Amino acid sequence: MNNQYDAFVIGAGLTGLTTAFYLKRKGKKVLVIEKNDRIGGVISTKEKNGFLFEQGPNTGILGSVEMVDLIEDLGQAVQLEVGNDNVNKRFILKGTWQQLPSGIGGGISTPLFTTKDKFRILGEAFRSRGKNEHETLAEMVRRRMGESFLNYAIDPFILGVYAGDPSYLVTRYALPKLYNLEQKYGSFIGGSVKKMFKAKDNSEARATRKVFSVNGGLSNLTGAIANEIGKENFILGASNLKINQTENGYELSCNSNNETISLNAKNVITTVPAFELSEFLPFVEKEIISKTENVFYAPVVEVALGFKNWNGIDLNGFGGLIPHIENRDLLGVMYMSSLFKNRAPENGALISIFVGGARKPHLTKLPQNEIENVVEKEMSELMGIKNFNPDLFELIWHNKAIPQYGKESGERFESVETIKNKYPGLFIGGNLCDGIGMADRVKQGKKLAGLVD
Ligand SMILES: Cc1cc2nc3c(=O)[nH]c(=O)nc-3n(C[C@H](O)[C@H](O)[C@H](O)COP(=O)(O)OP(=O)(O)OC[C@H]3O[C@@H](n4cnc5c(N)ncnc54)[C@H](O)[C@@H]3O)c2cc1C
Repeated sequence: MNNQYDAFVIGAGLTGLTTAFYLKRKGKKVLVIEKNDRIGGVISTKEKNGFLFEQGPNTGILGSVEMVDLIEDLGQAVQLEVGNDNVNKRFILKGTWQQLPSGIGGGISTPLFTTKDKFRILGEAFRSRGKNEHETLAEMVRRRMGESFLNYAIDPFILGVYAGDPSYLVTRYALPKLYNLEQKYGSFIGGSVKKMFKAKDNSEARATRKVFSVNGGLSNLTGAIANEIGKENFILGASNLKINQTENGYELSCNSNNETISLNAKNVITTVPAFELSEFLPFVEKEIISKTENVFYAPVVEVALGFKNWNGIDLNGFGGLIPHIENRDLLGVMYMSSLFKNRAPENGALISIFVGGARKPHLTKLPQNEIENVVEKEMSELMGIKNFNPDLFELIWHNKAIPQYGKESGERFESVETIKNKYPGLFIGGNLCDGIGMADRVKQGKKLAGLVD
């Protein structure tokens, strides 16, 4: 192994793979270092008993041009599967499942929001801009739209994206597009309408926000990226990773396959979660690196539940989210087999369920049989399952799943910039900054590759 590289990429999740893919395309000599024996990070698809299920993210959104580009750049190596029309039928629990309205008519008749708040929303465009840059999402929505919108629209949306708590997340950091709508246009609704009519340039218009997976599941996406990077450009199962600064860049040492490896590169790009960083960057000032780590990752237990003969409620839809105020023990359910092909046997159903999150972390600490009991009780009641006897019942623990962008995030983002300026060639990426969704990760990965010269 020639031991001089242009760049080391630390972490082989979607972000690291995207970074390495685009570095390689630029003709750079790149090496990806991953502590696990497999690539993909939290993305992991599995087949069992006739079901094809995800153990991490279930769906992506074509929400950034970079996400669309990546799929196109992979060409025939992946077959994109856009979710069918069921993606537009989403449910929110308010006693029973209520369909989330999309048009004005549905908005008026829905029982999800109070009549007072429906009138209140008419005045949303006239409310003044927020002045507190650390205003939480809950405070902002209460101020502009009312309590029932917070409880039955924003709260479940945040559960679906962050497994989070709107009273903790700061809009400016967690939903910057929403924050900017208010700051720029003075209104969510007015701003959205203006943006809709504003001509998008061709590239922007390609980010359609469609829900997607790929044939065979999301591991085929990360697998295809890794193939393009080339097996020889990975070190898997890396332990005792340490990076040190040298005169011309960085020196990396780690163990893999009972060997001690020592290599050099001009650049290092980290894409690991925040809590892993300080371990292998001993030369970065404590005060700076500690600020990159100041983020709480909400835990979740993901449950893949499969039935060969479904006997519950109609599953034509995307799935349902369960507002915190409903006092249930599940965060939400996704009807995966209603969205994508070949996920469950014919007449069967594959459902993905989330338990825990930022407000009910204790549930993730329960013994397995107690979590299974929670799932059985809730699913029987909510999904009308008469005889709960699943053919697939898999629990996947994510003890540090989703970073929560609270008020401390500004400091974290600043320290990422400080490191970039203070340590030339060292770039901090990963989901501690720049967003948490797959489309954000790909956008960041491509940006990071662009920073390496
Ligand atoms: C349960 C769950 C469900 C989600 N659902 C969705 C969804 O439906 N849609 C969506 O868009 N997004 C979803 N997300 C978010 C999205 O999946 C992630 O943000 C994204 O996949 C993270 O990719 P990443 O590469 O940044 O991080 P990761 O996937 O965490 O990859 C980081 C990699 O770094 C490696 N690593 C860590 N420490 C070291 C070290 N010291 N040395 C070397 N390697 C190291 C890890 O092993 C890992 O492989 C979900 C996330 C989770 C956890």
